[in-house]
Amino acid sequence: MKDRPTLTTSSGAPIADNQNSMTAGPFGPVLMQDFHLLEKLAHQNRERIPERTVHAKGSGAYGTLTITKDISRYTKASALQLGKKTEAFLRLSTVAGERGAADAERDVRGFALRFYTDEGNWDIVGNNTPVFFIRDGLKFPDFIHTQKRHPRTNLRSATAMWDFWSLSPESLHQVTILMSDRGLPQSYRHLNGYGSHTYSFINAEGERHWVKFHFKTMQGIRNWTNAEAAEKVAQDRETHQRDLYESIERGDFPRWRFCVQVMPESDVGKHWYNPFDLTKVWPHKDYPLIEIGVLELNRNPENYFAEVEQAALSPANIVPGIGHSPDKMLQARIYSYADAHRYRVGINADQLPVNKPRCPMHTYHADGAMRLATNPNPDAYYEPNSFGGPVENASVKEPPLKLSGNADRYNHRDGNDDYRQTGDLFRLMTNVQREQLFGNIKAAMEGVPLEIIERQLQHFFRADPAYCAGAAKALGIDFRPQMVAAE
Ligand code: NDP
Repeated sequence: MKDRPTLTTSSGAPIADNQNSMTAGPFGPVLMQDFHLLEKLAHQNRERIPERTVHAKGSGAYGTLTITKDISRYTKASALQLGKKTEAFLRLSTVAGERGAADAERDVRGFALRFYTDEGNWDIVGNNTPVFFIRDGLKFPDFIHTQKRHPRTNLRSATAMWDFWSLSPESLHQVTILMSDRGLPQSYRHLNGYGSHTYSFINAEGERHWVKFHFKTMQGIRNWTNAEAAEKVAQDRETHQRDLYESIERGDFPRWRFCVQVMPESDVGKHWYNPFDLTKVWPHKDYPLIEIGVLELNRNPENYFAEVEQAALSPANIVPGIGHSPDKMLQARIYSYADAHRYRVGINADQLPVNKPRCPMHTYHADGAMRLATNPNPDAYYEPNSFGGPVENASVKEPPLKLSGNADRYNHRDGNDDYRQTGDLFRLMTNVQREQLFGNIKAAMEGVPLEIIERQLQHFFRADPAYCAGAAKALGIDFRPQMVAAE
């Protein structure tokens, strides 16, 4: 045992015996004064923090973002200047399953990216889909409840999912992606990432463009059928964690082409779709992808809990040159994600190594549980002050954004076409992909009441009559759609 460090308590006192509790005589009882035993048991009881309500099961790795194209006319963000390399962290996850759930399940995948820029942490908390199930944050708790367990049966409920989806036509686009071949990726390396929301780029002249972020896998898209995944899960519940960890360990670093779509600020209002609607894409023919760099993952975390479980990413985290947009879902997530971390990890989560900005950080926040940071200037603990404390810097102010309208609760379904882009997606699928889509829908609708199925078939019909016919055939239902025009 020579040359090995001495085991200590948390307070640093050396431990003489880590095998035997202190007892009164060889058969016990155990003495209350065995503080080493008490500390070990008490610590063990506190090893878990609340798991994420959504995206509980995930994997993470560090890497590098390298910029290969000059886009300074769109953004002044330091991390996006030609030739710049920035340290990155990516957490990939499923949405619905708990922390011990199998990786190879049909689900959306989270694609939560952090760039440790020299102007602060910039997070893009995206998914492997360009759109989402809802477009108003008011519906987020309701939607997530349908993905989680039924309160009485403690089972996931296909009825709840399809009931909600069929009553929320804005979900159709995302439901179609989920039920398509891409709803069950073979690994985290073989999927695209999308920032999904519309953000803004701001250049050095203070001009704003709207932007969408895309990360295209350089490993190629690879998916499993339900049957293939069932076989995998029977043997290994950690397929995606294993694949990501092992590929990085052997030096086979996953990479994504970083692309953007850029829209002039004045284009808003020119299209049939609202560019801030999270259930819509910007068609590539309107806004072609501009390739601007490469994201590479090349380092596994040293400690899963410390770095992946406690990672606290949030779309609130932006840097000069990147801004938010009027997207209602983005606005809800700016609050919701940061709040989730305050509850789950704590008010000082940003002091943990995975969350701490790599650039200097100067705030007037004080105290709170697990505070590590000290104030190097103890007299400047409020603002304004006369003691040299940090001050605001007007040069990073965003240009004003013109908004108008009465404050009200506007019906987001009024006159909103939820079918056209779903139909476009359906029409670009091959026959094999369409058959998979129909089969996956049939499997996912097992046990759902006919009334709900028929309501959903009507949505499929509005997207494309062949979509409805194929799904109805797979389900063995003689469905007569109402011949109404798409709204
Ligand atoms: P394009 O033909 O230019 O693009 C089609 C896009 O669809 C490609 O990005 C492709 O990704 C992606 N795709 C193909 N199969 C699937 C699938 N099963 N699930 C999800 N994405 C898939 O057409 P448009 O830009 O006009 O868009 C048409 C439809 O494509 C949209 O309504 C939308 O459903 C879907 N789409 C569009 C995206 C966009 O940003 N415009 C992004 C992703 C999907 P890849 O290149 O990696 O094969």
